[in-house]
Amino acid sequence: MKLENYVTGNWIAGDGEGQQLFDAVNGELVATATTKGLDFDSILEYGRKVGNPALRKMTFHERGRMLRALATHLMEKKEKFYQVSYHTGATKTDSWIDIEGGIGNLFSNASLRRKFPDLPYCTDGDPVQLSKGGSFIAQHILVPKEGVAVHINAFNFPVWGMLEKCAVNWLAGVPAIVKPATITSYLTEVVVREIIASGILPEGSLQLICGNAGDLLDHVASQDTVTFTGSKSTGLILKSNENILQESVPFNMEADSLNCIVLGEDVDPGMSEWDIFIKEIRKEITVKSGQKCTAIRRIFVPEKLLEDAYIAIGKSLSQTIIGNPLNDKVRMGALAGLSQRDEVRNHVKQLLKTSSLIYGDLEDVELVDADKKKGAFLSPLLLLNEKPFYEEAVHNVECFGPVSTIMPYADMEQAVQLAKKGKGSLCCSIVTANNDIARDFVTGAATHHGRILILNNECAKESTGHGSPLPMLVHGGPGRAGGGQEMGGVRGVKHYMQLVAVQGSPTSITAITKVYQQNAKGNTGGIHPFRKYFEELKVGDQIVTGKREITSDDINEFADFSGDHFYAHKVDTDFAGTMFEKQVAHGYFILSAAAGLFVDGSDPGPVLLNYGIDELRFTKPVYPGSTIYVRFTCKEKIPLDKKEENDIPKGIVKWLLEIFDETNEQVALGTILTMVKLKE
Ligand code: NDP
Repeated sequence: MKLENYVTGNWIAGDGEGQQLFDAVNGELVATATTKGLDFDSILEYGRKVGNPALRKMTFHERGRMLRALATHLMEKKEKFYQVSYHTGATKTDSWIDIEGGIGNLFSNASLRRKFPDLPYCTDGDPVQLSKGGSFIAQHILVPKEGVAVHINAFNFPVWGMLEKCAVNWLAGVPAIVKPATITSYLTEVVVREIIASGILPEGSLQLICGNAGDLLDHVASQDTVTFTGSKSTGLILKSNENILQESVPFNMEADSLNCIVLGEDVDPGMSEWDIFIKEIRKEITVKSGQKCTAIRRIFVPEKLLEDAYIAIGKSLSQTIIGNPLNDKVRMGALAGLSQRDEVRNHVKQLLKTSSLIYGDLEDVELVDADKKKGAFLSPLLLLNEKPFYEEAVHNVECFGPVSTIMPYADMEQAVQLAKKGKGSLCCSIVTANNDIARDFVTGAATHHGRILILNNECAKESTGHGSPLPMLVHGGPGRAGGGQEMGGVRGVKHYMQLVAVQGSPTSITAITKVYQQNAKGNTGGIHPFRKYFEELKVGDQIVTGKREITSDDINEFADFSGDHFYAHKVDTDFAGTMFEKQVAHGYFILSAAAGLFVDGSDPGPVLLNYGIDELRFTKPVYPGSTIYVRFTCKEKIPLDKKEENDIPKGIVKWLLEIFDETNEQVALGTILTMVKLKE
């Protein structure tokens, strides 16, 4: 079967016979892949001219709903993907991580839309006051880039690798060109066929290249973004591509990572944390046969427990059944191919020059239902390096397979130093029940890691584990790990957007951001905003209320009614040395009195309920005899999806609440939220 490339709106087979791709378990031919004859310049241009405009004009909410629809569709097709995934040597669990983990990223980013406005672009941070009079301000905004996201992926996660990246660039409003590692691209192709056939994405949002990337990177331009996952050596070559440098194309790299786990000094073999530690290591060595960028390559234990630890790990590894992933009993499958196995063996041989093999056999492995001469199988391997400060290969060589090295440390300071010897890693874990140890480790090792897991009895049951990158958390590490960042919720979306500081009057900034800015012109007159349905309300709709005098009796009554008899609200307090001159009104009373002024709704109307307060500041004391009034402005509108069929259709409306006294000075400022009915 010759794989096809989905480019410029068509499925196209490349010229020539192409590279042969083999089943990792039985060595049989699965497919061939070639990109010969493809015009990479046109492919990029198609993404920019067709996919980009379609996506960038959609709002975040529309793009999020699109991701949800796609995720639901792919879940329905998942069995098909599992069947193909077995060819990569993956067990059911391995495939679950790749396939459903990838689809989970789509769901997660679909929900992330709620953190963004219902606009194609968004604000970044708070507005900045640039003038005394308040007529000149600035706001950072983010707009989708006008290019494409080019993703060059590794062989180990043919589905997750594509979806974890694309979910983010699609939410940002940017199309993707995916180039999976050729060796497992037959699985990516099956998934892309389903995505394209579903018609859920606008045409041009996704193109697929199965095989050599040709001169693709020679045509990327400044509005494009390139991400790379793979080996450090390839990453360096691509990162220094002249065109990428000339065009200042953002290049996000995720490469080799010598992740570690540390056993805290407080843990001994009688504690549940000991079992948690051993279990986590076994999982990280055997899941995906250790072919995970986050897998634990280095294990650090207090020197007094070194022997106990390696015996326990070896025992645990010996329970792993290895073989044909189609057999239900099998817990560890094959590596992705024979060349991968050769590479891992060569790297292990390098490590064995300065360490010894404690568990496993580099050349032999016992298998269930599989032929070791045909499949890319390798035994789990545990190595011991007793001098980790002198024998440094273990901190430099990544064995991308079921291999890890155990090492001793003398104290926490040494554990931190050893963790940092990886020169930058995607993640690390510490297993400890002592939070002082956890704090010392985290603050010491944080500079060299993208993510740190503190594992103990309190969280182990629900922990997502050392090796799982999560869509809402940053995935990436400094230094050797490539210095890149992927995902991370809202942070990840920003990678595909251009940040621009916009300066102008509050009224101009309101018009652009659709968020009312203080001192902008309001729309006064007409009916009370509480009488308008969600669709009828406009950002900037405003009322200025009548006035109310605040009396000492009001304050006393509020104190009695609420039970809040704080000294500042009592008339007979000695105010010397306090912040106040005399009895002062409760802030919550001022807020309630303000509500009495701005609320209109003695009959049921479009406003369904008071939803809460985002922020509230009391900026000036209100003394008896003061007169307050309110300026109340529609600040922002957030549509809500219906959860159930017979839900009342509604949205959230944020209101800017400004309360003033008789001198027109502001006494309180807040943002309050209501739920407002839709007319239709
Ligand atoms: P490679 O670096 O060889 O390949 C990664 C990707 O880059 C593949 O899609 C590959 O395509 C592509 N590529 C290679 N050369 C070029 C080029 N000149 N132009 C454009 N694209 C190119 O890594 P592998 O996937 O083969 O993995 C090798 C090693 O990388 C592993 O053994 C492991 O050590 C490390 N690795 C690290 C990961 C991490 O995140 N820490 C993840 C995965 C791997 P093609 O397949 O067509 O060659």
